[in-house]
Amino acid sequence: MLVHTPAHSHLSGPLTYSSEQVFAAGTLVRVPLGKREVLGLVWDQQSDQTAASSDGTVSSGKLKPIVGELDGIAPLAIAWRQLVAFAAGYYQRSLGEVALAALPPQLRELSTLQLARRIKRRVKSIDPELPSCPGVFDPLVLTPEQQLAIARFNLDRGPFLLFGSTGSGKTEVYLHLVQQLLATDSNSQALVMVPEINLTPQLESRFRARFVPQFGDHALVSMHSGMTPAQRLKSWLAAHSGKARIVLGTRMAIFASLPALKLIVVDEEHDPSYKSQEGARYSARDLAVYRGRLEGAKVVLGSATPSLESWHHSRPISEGGRYVRLQMPSRIGADAALPLVRRVDMNHQPKKCVISPPMLDAMVQRVARGEQSLVFLNRRGYAPVLHCADCDWKSECPHCSAYRVFHKIDRTLRCHHCGYTERVPRACPACGNPDIAPMGRGTERLEEHLAELLAGVRRPNSISSQWPEGEPVRIIRIDADSTRHKGELEAQLARVHAGDVDVLVGTQMIAKGHDFRRITLVAAINPDGALYSSDFRASERLFGLLMQAAGRAGRDATIGSPSEMWLQTFHPNHPLFEALKRHDYPAFAEAELEQRRQAAMPPFSFQALVRAEARTQDVAQGFLTAASRNSATLAQAEQLTLLITIYPPVPMTVQRVANVERAQMLIESVSRTALQNFLSAWQGILHATRTQSEGRGLLRWAIDVDPLTI
Ligand code: ADP
Ligand code: ZN
Ligand code: ZN
Repeated sequence: MLVHTPAHSHLSGPLTYSSEQVFAAGTLVRVPLGKREVLGLVWDQQSDQTAASSDGTVSSGKLKPIVGELDGIAPLAIAWRQLVAFAAGYYQRSLGEVALAALPPQLRELSTLQLARRIKRRVKSIDPELPSCPGVFDPLVLTPEQQLAIARFNLDRGPFLLFGSTGSGKTEVYLHLVQQLLATDSNSQALVMVPEINLTPQLESRFRARFVPQFGDHALVSMHSGMTPAQRLKSWLAAHSGKARIVLGTRMAIFASLPALKLIVVDEEHDPSYKSQEGARYSARDLAVYRGRLEGAKVVLGSATPSLESWHHSRPISEGGRYVRLQMPSRIGADAALPLVRRVDMNHQPKKCVISPPMLDAMVQRVARGEQSLVFLNRRGYAPVLHCADCDWKSECPHCSAYRVFHKIDRTLRCHHCGYTERVPRACPACGNPDIAPMGRGTERLEEHLAELLAGVRRPNSISSQWPEGEPVRIIRIDADSTRHKGELEAQLARVHAGDVDVLVGTQMIAKGHDFRRITLVAAINPDGALYSSDFRASERLFGLLMQAAGRAGRDATIGSPSEMWLQTFHPNHPLFEALKRHDYPAFAEAELEQRRQAAMPPFSFQALVRAEARTQDVAQGFLTAASRNSATLAQAEQLTLLITIYPPVPMTVQRVANVERAQMLIESVSRTALQNFLSAWQGILHATRTQSEGRGLLRWAIDVDPLTI
């Protein structure tokens, strides 16, 4: 029996309950836990029975009875339970935690009666509306590349990596694959995942338009954390009962119960959002591949800039590849070529200029032609630091080892790590100097700066009598701050689409997925930061982001002028920019993989991080050091010494957050199996080491397998 137990409690395995009735494994039940009644999942029917009978009267007296099962919900299938068991084992978490977190929260929260009512209501609401005209939809004529990709998909088992440029028609391929599946197998279900909630509405509308007329409104449900608990329960039940044929969702959807799953699509598979950053730190992309094998469902990972892991897996079979690579290099539309990439060498521009004169000029030309520009800066707020030139005071967060960001709009200093927010002081808190100044630049300040630079420029064709010479340029900013409230993002995007905006300033949020037809200039004003980062994945992320941002431009072939991407850089000849100029992801990937190979980095090695949090660095690092020392015997016993490298603990990049000190320790191996074996054997030692640690009251630790940032 699995119940939801707190992480790291010693109740990590299944608990045993007695029952007069035999429940099938996978049945959802209510059981007593302490003084409460909680949701339980019958994990292992056999052991329940043996426990209840073989221990005889003594222990069945001790065993608490199961209260009852959740009526109207079929037991969770074995494949689902195997997925959960794999995820718990691989990511080093307890079964109960992973299983119960994978279920909609209302299953836990609602009383049996409330739940029964919900299920009844759902059953009633379904059915009357059968599709009025089944099979009526008007598919596009697929391009030869799309046809080839689909033909190959139908011949092979996969998993598949669909490597296609932005705008090459990948989504259309997904729609087609789902269509052919649903049409030929009348029970089948498909799971389609996207990285971000923001991207679900537009995907959902495309899927609805295609499938609702054929299969009815209930055939398609969404699953993401932006839904209300009631909506989540409803979607979950629809998927679990098999009524929903298509589930669209973010990473959490990988755990949806889909009894007839036959196809999994992971769009933008390289996106870091697929990796959970809390609880069980699972990768939904990697679990998709596992789940596909488990359930005999075909898996398609799609991207214009695949993760280097997936790219490497899709090398030719003769070289050891495991994924089938499907390629769609061409963009759809006669003139929709990929944008021309231009580099501005900042070594030859006026010192300290933010927007170089040639880039500004290019933007002004766009305004004059009635086209749009997108200016991209991956830092929100007005300025990352506020600074006093007299005494060198800086806007540090009192609770974190980080600066608080200056937000001019509401005149606050906000910590982006712990959320601590204060009004901006009138004068330097240290010396009283009234002249404290922002240092550096975020999107807010960039927006302000652009407004100044473009103040004299006018939009063409104005018929307004208020602005006889043309209206001022319209600038909009889209980032996490400007879209905090529900509906804001949609409203802002609608303005962009309506042509009500000339210049769009934003963070990576706007580089992803959104389809901007009238944008012909994409500008990255400061992409250099990631070139020489200590994080070995930084250049991979930068390349992906810039390629994606470039893909935003020129999607509308009816706009005559060619679209361009401008980069301001001090390293114009960097190989990353050279590859970007040629839109040559394979060249970038080959070079990057060669470096990884030489340095024995992933995907040529496997990593895990143990993170520790405590009141002081000493305690956090002391715990890690002790756990590392205590593992020595284990590694020898398991003959793993040669295969496992444990690095010394180090403080995390932002070492203190909300007054908690954070440290981490890297474990590496050339063998995934060796790493897995070591980690599972080491768990007990970590628990024991924590129990012996000083200051352990505040000591917490967690393992991150296949971490994305180190
Ligand atoms: P991606 O997902 O690769 O960015 P999409 O599937 O969104 O590409 O396709 C880009 C655009 O091309 C969309 O507007 C889509 O409707 C259109 N499109 C896709 N396939 C075809 C096709 N075979 N014929 C005509 N237009 C297509
Ligand atoms: Zn001062
Ligand atoms: Zn803080």
